[in-house]
Amino acid sequence: MENTYYFGNREYDFTRLENMWVKLILEEIEMLLKKKEACDCEDCILDLAALALNKLSPKYWVSGAFNAFTSPSEFAANPQNRKDAKQAVAQALSLVKKNPHH
Ligand SMILES: [Zn+2]
Repeated sequence: MENTYYFGNREYDFTRLENMWVKLILEEIEMLLKKKEACDCEDCILDLAALALNKLSPKYWVSGAFNAFTSPSEFAANPQNRKDAKQAVAQALSLVKKNPHH
């Protein structure tokens, strides 16, 4: 299965490892689509997400783990993080509009 990794014969579920920016980026993209500011084809949306995520330092979280990290809800509620996500998506949108792959 995808995202399951074996070290020796022990299996590890890497779907639990999440970049917390993904949720914020997807929310920003959803807003752009509602306002009809972005092309809604899969190529453009995935390019938008990839470009925006590459602009941000990844912030990983292990879901289901003991509270050793900032939780995704705290992360998403942080106004500076919202602002950074919005800015990353806006920059990605201008790149995708200049050079769409569809
Ligand atoms: Zn498109």
